Amino acid sequence: MFSQRGQIVTAHSADQLDSFSHRANVMRLNGIDADILDRDAVRRLVPYLDFSDTARFPIHGAILQGRAGTARHDAVAWGYARAADGHGVDIIQNCEVTGFVRDGDRIVGVDTNKGRIGAGKIGLAVAGHTSVLGQKAGLELPIESHVLQAFVTEPLKPLVDHVVAYGADHFYVSQSDKGGLVFGGNLDGYNSYAQRGNLGVVREVAEAAIALMPCISRVRLLRHWGGVMDMTPDASPIICPTPIDGLYLNGGWCYGGFKATPASGWCFAHTLATGKPHPLIAAYGLDRFRTGRTLDEAGVGPSAWLQ
Ligand SMILES: Cc1cc2nc3c(=O)[nH]c(=O)nc-3n(C[C@H](O)[C@H](O)[C@H](O)COP(=O)(O)OP(=O)(O)OC[C@H]3O[C@@H](n4cnc5c(N)ncnc54)[C@H](O)[C@@H]3O)c2cc1C
Repeated sequence: MFSQRGQIVTAHSADQLDSFSHRANVMRLNGIDADILDRDAVRRLVPYLDFSDTARFPIHGAILQGRAGTARHDAVAWGYARAADGHGVDIIQNCEVTGFVRDGDRIVGVDTNKGRIGAGKIGLAVAGHTSVLGQKAGLELPIESHVLQAFVTEPLKPLVDHVVAYGADHFYVSQSDKGGLVFGGNLDGYNSYAQRGNLGVVREVAEAAIALMPCISRVRLLRHWGGVMDMTPDASPIICPTPIDGLYLNGGWCYGGFKATPASGWCFAHTLATGKPHPLIAAYGLDRFRTGRTLDEAGVGPSAWLQ
């Protein structure tokens, strides 16, 4: 299914490799294969990383998930859109929700730049604009919006056939079918709704890239772009009915909402249809921020690299 031969996260100390062993065990206990590699095994798979004596952070080993890879996000989005259209769903493009229509305490529709649309139930799934739309509905959400950037280089001959993530800093890389290296790093460190990043992060990501893969130091960057991430305090999504009658929320996916799309869509559809959380997402309600029963699942996202 994927173009890559798995995902590798490098470990740069014995302690880090130890924590990766813990993670590999947790994955295996949940039926997901994972392997711990020593330094020589990593070198055999990804010899283009810096294994020299002068490496900034020497590679001790890695964790490998051999079935992981990347999927073309736009093809996935269009695939879902066409399938939904085929099932009779109306998709109205370039239609901005500007407000919510109320009947007493209940939300019964939305105002848009194309007119009013009435609805028995409304699902809010607007990622980087969750807090903006939430506020219009009268919901104050525990969400911060930050920009995350991604980068693409000029096309190269095949070099990287895994997804490689750097355990010593924020950097991940894969190679697209067209040959460009696709990579990224950490969030821009301030709240923003701007869909562009700042140069500080470009520099940090480039530093990490070259520390791990010195061979790409002269490769030209073609473009970079930024998208808004709706970050929650516990790095887990919010997917639930809201305290406002008729309004359901699917947001707060931080860095990881793409890979979750099939499962989150399934659970959200169930929740909308029945008015009750699907059992799989019962713990992902808003209430957890009131009770303090937050979910520690940061390990499923990029922040896991540094743990
Ligand atoms: C650079 C970058 C790299 C990423 N890498 C990964 C990754 O490797 N793996 C992963 O799993 N996730 C990744 N993500 C996160 C992932 O893209 C998101 O979590 C995911 O797209 C969220 O899906 P969504 O359908 O909830 O929202 P979106 O895909 O953002 O869709 C929300 C839609 O709502 C629309 N909208 C907003 N406001 C309004 C309004 N007022 N009225 C009408 N429509 C509105 C938007 O135009 C948009 O079309 C990355 C994100 C970025 C920016």
